[in-house]
Amino acid sequence: MDATQTPSPKPTGDAERVTPMMAQYIEIKTANPDSLLFYRMGDFYELFFEDAEIASRSLGIVLTKRGKHQGADIPMCGVPVERAEEYLHKLIACGHRVAVCEQIEDPAEAKKRGPKSVVRRDVTRLVTPGTLTEDALLDDRRENVLAALARQRGGEGAGEDGYVYALAFADISTGSFRVIETHSGRLAADLARVEPAELLLSDPVYDEADFREIWRSLPAVTPLPKESFDGAGAERRLAGFFGVATLDAFGAFSRVELTAASAVVAYIERTQLGGRPPLAAPQREAATDIMVIDPATRVNLEILRTTTGDRAGSLNAAVDRTVTSAGARLLARRLAEPLTDPARIAARLDAVEALVEDAELRAGLQQRLAGAPDLARALARIALGRSGPRDLAAIGRGLAEGTAIARLLLAGEVGEELHANALLFGAVDPALPALLATALADELPPYRRDGGFTRAGFDADLDAARALRDESRRVVAALERRYAEETGVKSLKIRHNAVLGYYVEVSQQNADRLREPPFGAVFVHRQTMAGAMRFTSTELGELEAKIASAGERALALEQAIFDRLAAAILLEAEAIRAAAGALAVIDVTAGLARLAVEEGYVRPEVDGGLDFRLEGARHPVVEQALRRDGGPFVANDCELSPPEDAKGRAASGRIWLVTGPNMAGKSTFLRQNALIAILAQTGSFVPARAAHIGVVDRLFSRVGAADDLARGRSTFMVEMVETAAILNQASERSLVILDEIGRGTATFDGLSIAWASLEHLHEVNRCRGLFATHFHELTALSQRLARLVNATVKVKEWEGEVIFLHEVVPGAADRSYGIQVARLAGLPASVVARAKAVLTELENADRAAPAQRILDDLPLFAAINRAPASAAPVELAKADPAAEAVKTALAGIDPDEMTPRAALEALYQLKAAARGR
Ligand code: ATP
Repeated sequence: MDATQTPSPKPTGDAERVTPMMAQYIEIKTANPDSLLFYRMGDFYELFFEDAEIASRSLGIVLTKRGKHQGADIPMCGVPVERAEEYLHKLIACGHRVAVCEQIEDPAEAKKRGPKSVVRRDVTRLVTPGTLTEDALLDDRRENVLAALARQRGGEGAGEDGYVYALAFADISTGSFRVIETHSGRLAADLARVEPAELLLSDPVYDEADFREIWRSLPAVTPLPKESFDGAGAERRLAGFFGVATLDAFGAFSRVELTAASAVVAYIERTQLGGRPPLAAPQREAATDIMVIDPATRVNLEILRTTTGDRAGSLNAAVDRTVTSAGARLLARRLAEPLTDPARIAARLDAVEALVEDAELRAGLQQRLAGAPDLARALARIALGRSGPRDLAAIGRGLAEGTAIARLLLAGEVGEELHANALLFGAVDPALPALLATALADELPPYRRDGGFTRAGFDADLDAARALRDESRRVVAALERRYAEETGVKSLKIRHNAVLGYYVEVSQQNADRLREPPFGAVFVHRQTMAGAMRFTSTELGELEAKIASAGERALALEQAIFDRLAAAILLEAEAIRAAAGALAVIDVTAGLARLAVEEGYVRPEVDGGLDFRLEGARHPVVEQALRRDGGPFVANDCELSPPEDAKGRAASGRIWLVTGPNMAGKSTFLRQNALIAILAQTGSFVPARAAHIGVVDRLFSRVGAADDLARGRSTFMVEMVETAAILNQASERSLVILDEIGRGTATFDGLSIAWASLEHLHEVNRCRGLFATHFHELTALSQRLARLVNATVKVKEWEGEVIFLHEVVPGAADRSYGIQVARLAGLPASVVARAKAVLTELENADRAAPAQRILDDLPLFAAINRAPASAAPVELAKADPAAEAVKTALAGIDPDEMTPRAALEALYQLKAAARGR
């Protein structure tokens, strides 16, 4: 969604009719045209003009009016300051940005300048989706990422559009900051894994037609003038932000990376107006460090959430046994970006294994972790001056728990990764948690403004002021008793309100006692109420002043203590941020270890080879769901490693062609293998008896058919776009999962496309893959494609019923049992009977024949593309005299431009060419 564009009201030429306050409003609004302006007036933030209309619509609050501007009513609505966060949350969720404009002086000061002068106000913060820090505005289990995309023409790594891109992304609520180089072909995948809450980009990039759909898929995109992506000043700005002379110590960055990182920092400076979140130095990441997973695959595999957007039912939800929100955020991040370096993966697996083996340590850690608050987010709020007493306490408690956790770890045999993380707590000055524990009370108020958070005994001056304040209160009670006795009015009360301060209240009947001598000289009548009268006295007035000043002094002292504690925390900000990161790592590791133990997962062997061998593997999500429903999950093997034959080991992995009845479990099987690859490379144990995986560089999955009518694409078009992406990009290291390709079109069109795609995957992409289909004709291809293996899901037929065994075995299915499944689903009996009759007729026409003809007549894909490597059956291709003719026919074909119909046509032509006609 675009940034809110709210035209600012034009100041009228008729100065007489604009009140000074409205003139101030208009000036501030003009300076913030792209934000809704929350204009502070007393206990409310008011919105005017179009802002008011937008807010009242988005928030469902009443639109009123206030005065006139250029002859028309000024629309107005307001939100109480106390509930501002709730309303901000809604507005941000609707894609708006908000400028919060506060009164920056005491109204009494303004009055001194003259009766008509307006309280000074200024914008103290811009609230945008990517720059939130308040708990109420954030999901504690999800990161909130602000990203910036920069680009540069030419250079190494440029994509098809001739540009190199860099994506910098930070979470100011936790301080993480990373940067990667990318290109136009990978951009969608990178953004899908980073999941920015807000993406900053320059106007020209925003206007690129090719990217429009990507921008549309993001929650908020903020185009900025080109100057915001100025490469020349980038390094200086970053160095300034981090307070270093040069960035060399942070690593070597390319110019485009610096530009993106600097745009993030500039935007933070702009929106936080002087506040500086505890951002880590930018960390550079190579494009090859992370398994590439494109957006469609992420959706299909339901990694972080299901296709309907829920967390429940996703891989993340199934494997999350973390006990802190920081741990939950890190686990989600890790699942979104599995690693590709076997050594880094092994380091994580070692850590998990250590905690799998030590049940006592694991339980001890989780118990301690459960009591650790969200250090990172509390720290960010403290750094930005937005914190309350509970944030200070969170740091104290978090560090104390962290130190105890570190002690537990350092006492055990936990491997390098956990050991290194445990050591990070040593960097924090131990005096800090001690200071916070002695300074802060046990029960804490949410806000600092009212005081009451400092522990008695911490500060002698504060104790004295509090004693005076509380003592004065006791004096008031004593005075009340004395007045009652002296006047003989037993029901006399001393009360307090904002207008009169302290006052004496008696009933109407007793009022005369206080008005007449001798008391008439002591009490001054102030107010007559229905049934009561109110008086003040000099003594009461003096007492009031004393109470107020003691209260004020106590409050001022507490504010100073708050600032002192916050400053002490910020001195350690760097170490606390690192400790917060360590706690998250420990939580994720302990959570994965517990998962492994509870769910019976094993440590996968992950290396740089091309193996993919799973024994007794299960689907991590379906397995748990079935257990809840009482059913067992049938474990299955999968072997996609390069096959061995007499000539040795093939250079590429296998593709399994999975056929089988509807409902047999093909999709489940396909996904479980992809999910296990993700889990393994995340550094998790996996749901299998044994697993050996050569790192997957890219994971592709096309599962099921989905219309994308909002973007004007039909089911079939979506399917073809995704298939095209796979065929164009998959490499030998990739893992490709294709479920029912060619389903959304006519049978022969679909079959032809599935056929050609499978050949392409085998011969050109040479990837490891799983290809599920109901086109049983395709199973014939395994005669020709050496690394293609037929597999089927077993069913039993019993008295006309199908029984699903969910067992994947070698071989090919002969039928789909679609009609039986349709009957199970409740299709009318007459339709089922008719369908059976039609099927019998069709089957009599011998459906296998076309496939055999293609095999016999059409030269193999390999023959018309590049020569296959060792294991492919080259001989067949070489022996074919028509290869040249086919080559020529092919030269005129552009597969990307073809309709399914044209593809089929082309197949016929190729066939003719192959026959030499
Ligand atoms: P279709 O061809 O109709 O799309 P399919 O073969 O892809 O079907 P799935 O959707 O994978 O079948 O599975 C159907 C149901 O079978 C699932 O809802 C699941 O509960 C169950 N199932 C799948 N695999 C297993 C298994 N290995 N063990 C137990 N139950 C399973």
